Amino acid sequence: MNEDSDLIINDSFIVSMRGKKNPVNPNLPYGWQIEKEHTRSGKVEDTGIIFLTNRECPFHCLMCDLWKNTTDETVEPGSIPKQIKWALKKMPTVRHLKLYNSGSFFDVRAIPEEDYEDIASLLENLETVIVECHPRLINEKCLKFRDLLKPDLEIALGLETVNRNILRTLNKQMTIDDFRNSVRFLTENGIRTRAFILLRPPLLSESEGIHWAEQSIDFAFNAGVECCTVIPVRAGNGAMEFLSEKGQFSIPEIHSLETVLEYGIRLNVGRVFADTWDLGLFSNCDSCLERRTNRIIEMNLNQKIVAPVECECNKERRTYTE
Ligand code: SF4
Ligand SMILES: [Zn+2]
Repeated sequence: MNEDSDLIINDSFIVSMRGKKNPVNPNLPYGWQIEKEHTRSGKVEDTGIIFLTNRECPFHCLMCDLWKNTTDETVEPGSIPKQIKWALKKMPTVRHLKLYNSGSFFDVRAIPEEDYEDIASLLENLETVIVECHPRLINEKCLKFRDLLKPDLEIALGLETVNRNILRTLNKQMTIDDFRNSVRFLTENGIRTRAFILLRPPLLSESEGIHWAEQSIDFAFNAGVECCTVIPVRAGNGAMEFLSEKGQFSIPEIHSLETVLEYGIRLNVGRVFADTWDLGLFSNCDSCLERRTNRIIEMNLNQKIVAPVECECNKERRTYTE
């Protein structure tokens, strides 16, 4: 991809590119949903997700648009338990629940520590609770929360990519060693982990995007994670559109997501999922989008390779010479 040596990617550049936040209510989650997931037991089960409203993440990663549904200030103590209670009442009964807070659950300016006990008591009928956290915010607080929880705690960590230059460019403010150390700390303390891995972050060609996503899956499993989710990178936060106009970012193709998902499943060392949100964005071919989407969903749910989709667009697929 094109180089632009004048471009300095840092907090102020990324923040300066942003549009407005969405209005949010600190007493309500900004969303919830139920999705099917191939669980650790090998069964496909309903998993609830609550998208908590809370203070914006202190990091400013280049590709992140999660700040859109956050507050500027820390929410009042009691607000997060209120949000969870509200969502649990709305959703059907589930055994597994993701509490995603557009940042780090163990960032005490996002989730007040004094709420841990009330949160844990709301979750006592569950089997698994999954929260997300930046690897550098993994510490003793995770153990404190684990001790309060009846269900198993699992923590999702953004590895993003093991290409060190790209990871630096993403402004994630961490190294792959930080990631490895956090996974080790959690594993030693009986907490399972999953990794978020990006497919084709900026400055990579399509084939490089595939290569580094596969390398990242290898690294994550070697570090000790139990599960990987591959996320095709999209625009939507201002900074990514800017890079796209400069020729430094292109969204990946749905074919590449299939390739990386197949690779991960074939490793047969842990569950590997592809993020299926808005897959139409990554396809230019109306005649196979639905079949490819169904294929990806089926591979996610069964963790088995499904026969490839035959379509003219396989021939037309770019030959990765860019
Ligand atoms: S750490 Fe996560 S939530 Fe925070 S800016 Fe980076 S990607 Fe977004
Ligand atoms: Zn096609």
